[in-house]
Amino acid sequence: MTDPALNDAGAGDPRTAELAGRLEAVRRRIGVAAAAAGRAGRLPTLIVVTKFHPAEDIRRLAALGVTDVGENRDQEAAGKAEILADCGLTWHFVGQLQTKKAKSVVRYASAVHSVDRPQLVDALAKAMQNERAATAGRAPLDCFIQVSLEDDAGAHRGGAAPGDVLLLADRIAAADGLRLAGVMAVAPLGAPPEPAFEKLAGVSARLVAHHPGASAISAGMSQDLEAAIAFGATHLRIGSDILGSRPAVG
Ligand SMILES: *Cc1c(COP(=O)(O)O)cnc(C)c1O
Repeated sequence: MTDPALNDAGAGDPRTAELAGRLEAVRRRIGVAAAAAGRAGRLPTLIVVTKFHPAEDIRRLAALGVTDVGENRDQEAAGKAEILADCGLTWHFVGQLQTKKAKSVVRYASAVHSVDRPQLVDALAKAMQNERAATAGRAPLDCFIQVSLEDDAGAHRGGAAPGDVLLLADRIAAADGLRLAGVMAVAPLGAPPEPAFEKLAGVSARLVAHHPGASAISAGMSQDLEAAIAFGATHLRIGSDILGSRPAVG
């Protein structure tokens, strides 16, 4: 055991022990919630959102069996993905995305959870066209349509209006190199999450009626993963309950 990377992630490392304990606690919560929803045999995919935390933590998580990680800023994610290329991780982009960043994001991301407007669909499709020309065997990009669950249109958590989801879905489905995965949402701040996730389940059902393959539901964060699972989440995006509070950034 002379590989320093292995030693870093070794059992004697206190940060690894801390992450292992928190990961185990979250996996237990997921198991309990899935069993309560009658889905014990079909656990949702756990995406560990690692934004603001260092690449070494992601390496520790990979050694603990984490396969999927999420990031919300392209520059940070691109750097980490490059450093961690040997870990075989699946990268999910979960943040608001400017069209000019599409080209960079598709280099490392397998999925984008924040597709919320036609211009972004077109930018991702164009970026994937170039990416697939350059990389033989590149899989299509999984696209989740981010849905706004706020009643107030001026709210700031992003996402398309529920009424715009089908048009966006048709545009994604028609684009070479993009795969329509399903819907994504962030529960509104300062309100119980259940009504929001119930609404998302309704949006998902309407989408699936038109696009039967697009059944994924990306919902559920540290505070509300149980409610998300109760309303059918297939992908959870968990940050702080596994990594601890995010370091402050300037
Ligand atoms: C940060 C973030 C998460 C994780 O949130 P936690 O509350 O830390 O679990 C999930 N989804 C998105 C879109 C995020 O930006």
